[in-house]
Amino acid sequence: MKKHTPDTGRTAKRTGQSPAAGKQGTRVAVPAKKPPAPQAVPEKKPAAAKQVAARESLAAAEQLRGLAAQKLPTVAVVGGGAAGMAAAIAAAHTAKRQGSSLRVILLEKADRVGRKLLATGNGRCNLSHEPVTAANYVSLAANSGTAPDAFFAARQPGGAAAFLQSLGLLIREEEGRLYPYCGQASMVLDVLRAALDAAGVITVCGAAVSSVAPVAGGFLIRTEAAGQVLPVLFAQRVILAAGGGAAPKLGGCRDGYALAQSLGHSCTPLHPALVGLRCALPAPENDLLPGLKGIRAQAEAVLYDGDIPIARDTGEIQFNENGLSGIPVLQLSLRLAAAAAPRITLDLLPQLSAPQLAALLEARCAAAPPLEELLLGTVHKKLGFAVMKCAGLGQLSRRADTLSAQEKAVLVQLLKALPAAVLGHQGWDGAQVAAGGVPLAECDPQSCASLRCAGLYLAGEVLDCTGECGGFNLDWAFTTGERAGAAAAGGL
Ligand SMILES: Cc1cc2nc3c(=O)[nH]c(=O)nc-3n(C[C@H](O)[C@H](O)[C@H](O)COP(=O)(O)OP(=O)(O)OC[C@H]3O[C@@H](n4cnc5c(N)ncnc54)[C@H](O)[C@@H]3O)c2cc1C
Repeated sequence: MKKHTPDTGRTAKRTGQSPAAGKQGTRVAVPAKKPPAPQAVPEKKPAAAKQVAARESLAAAEQLRGLAAQKLPTVAVVGGGAAGMAAAIAAAHTAKRQGSSLRVILLEKADRVGRKLLATGNGRCNLSHEPVTAANYVSLAANSGTAPDAFFAARQPGGAAAFLQSLGLLIREEEGRLYPYCGQASMVLDVLRAALDAAGVITVCGAAVSSVAPVAGGFLIRTEAAGQVLPVLFAQRVILAAGGGAAPKLGGCRDGYALAQSLGHSCTPLHPALVGLRCALPAPENDLLPGLKGIRAQAEAVLYDGDIPIARDTGEIQFNENGLSGIPVLQLSLRLAAAAAPRITLDLLPQLSAPQLAALLEARCAAAPPLEELLLGTVHKKLGFAVMKCAGLGQLSRRADTLSAQEKAVLVQLLKALPAAVLGHQGWDGAQVAAGGVPLAECDPQSCASLRCAGLYLAGEVLDCTGECGGFNLDWAFTTGERAGAAAAGGL
């Protein structure tokens, strides 16, 4: 993955001019990292890492000391992901339109903004979808009521695509999925960073917000860097866009939920979503999966809760040693939390109905090939053999015209609905998003303002709204971020 090095040398501090006046945004001066210590002397690595962390902490402390000393109306954005960057840009644009002296400060825990964004869409950033509807999302809170619909009714026409296009990003569509025209996630980040700079947003990296305490007229924001407590910042409005717990290696964490809860919000139970599933085929005692490792096959996957089908998706299924993945399985994982007794079936030949498949097999059996050749030209060879093993048809050298009607029926049934027991998921590391979060009913859909804490706004994955694969989660992050930013800056 391409790494974005922080802009060193572009650190002129803004000193009170309005965003309208200041064309140059500020990014914290994090000194260039030393090259990693050679493999042969690993004991030097932690020391070098500590030095870098200490320098980052110093840089963030110095920056925050300067900012804390200036008593200016401030919107602070917690988290420099898709939602936080959109919020900061929208807040600064709103301030500019108002002609106010409002400053917008973006506080990011990592040493750079938008780290997760670079990994999205396999480096291509599937930034939105056409269309986007409430039906593409799942909210887990029992009390969410009509809140999800109200949030989507409040979505601006064009959603994330319109927002990013307004910043200069060209976009193209592939079967409903929207990508940057150049196909690079890094370009989306470059455009956002340029927009942050142009709007005069003050970005402080390496500053982890540890508490947000309501006080008269605003909030006191405490931050830490490398274990050091940094100067306390006052802001009239705070936008919480600290993301969710998925993909911890890309910065995913639970800080956002904890901060929201400390400010009076609740949080649903959290589940890894858009994640591969640990499965057994067809049942734990007769597991065929290890033998199918590495196979990719077109299939329709159906998720059942007991006997009730609750979700289905068609596409390329990937068979792993201990489970299934691929986009259809990720899509089903979004609905897993809703299933008390989850199980999956795979239709390995979705383009044929069961009677059509039965007729095809009947005709083939009449020609009496060995079973080894019965499914020739249909499903993946190993998969076909595995299904025949499941069906208990015996040796592959057996002649197909010796199959009984019952055996043929079982074979058709397994090819159309191969059962997979769901044993769990691949965990937070493998998940793209966290399902659950702060219930939407606790926020105003028009502005993303907290209904529990005046002056607080919430955006992105920290909210209890999780989209399917296909650009829906980034659309949610960008659109709620934009809404929260514009509203938070309004009237300040
Ligand atoms: C591998 C992968 C691929 C994906 N691909 C796609 C895709 O193609 N399309 C799509 O729609 N979605 C995709 N997603 C999901 C999408 O990336 C997320 O839904 C989206 O990034 C959420 O945006 P966010 O701003 O709410 O949170 P994040 O992007 O997680 O940003 C939150 C930020 O807050 C910072 N932060 C956390 N705590 C603190 C704190 N205490 N103080 C300061 N800063 C803090 C974090 O460091 C982080 O930078 C993908 C996810 C992954 C992991």
